[in-house]
Amino acid sequence: MRVLVVEDEPTVAEPLLAGLRRHGLGVTHLGHGTGVTAAVLAAPHPDTVLLDLGLPDIDGLDVLRDLRRVSDIPVIILSARGEESDRIVGLELGADDYVVKPFSVREVVARIRAIGRRRHAERPITAGGLQIDRSRRTVTIDHSAIDLTVKEFDLLSVLAEEPGRVVPRQELFARIWDPVWFGTGKTLDVHISSLRRKLGPSVVIRTVRGIGYQLAPPTE
Ligand code: CA
Repeated sequence: MRVLVVEDEPTVAEPLLAGLRRHGLGVTHLGHGTGVTAAVLAAPHPDTVLLDLGLPDIDGLDVLRDLRRVSDIPVIILSARGEESDRIVGLELGADDYVVKPFSVREVVARIRAIGRRRHAERPITAGGLQIDRSRRTVTIDHSAIDLTVKEFDLLSVLAEEPGRVVPRQELFARIWDPVWFGTGKTLDVHISSLRRKLGPSVVIRTVRGIGYQLAPPTE
């Protein structure tokens, strides 16, 4: 996952870029509004834009307006305290969310992932030959249907949101079973092995010992 950070203030940009990298995200940085749309369209494509509104060359809202003409990429506004009305206009112009400075990197990452989940929930997921249609709750591998239980489907959907990300066991429990889980964790392992059996060898779910599970990216 790659994030384009548009922020001119080094004291904000530097710790943010370092923090995003620490969380395993790829980052690109622009210290001005010129070229944001081009950077979104250029390879490697970012998956999310963090956009400061107070930029030295162009108003951040104009940057957003231009961007929305050509792209529906998730945008999170980085907003200073006095900019409440700009924040509202930003949301009206199609920003997905905002954070108010000073923010923590963890908060930003949580919002990036939350938007990713919302977007994914609306769209079919494709990873190699694997296709997941969340609205119809169907799974196919190379166009043939796979019959999954409700929990197996939910598990696979979470793992496939971001192939390659190690999803911690606690996150899987919280999102699929219960936010407060006191069980042994056997249930999860049982569901994973059944899922592996049904999916066959073309879809690889890796166990990352002591942490969680990972859907192998299709390129591997
Ligand atoms: Ca600024």
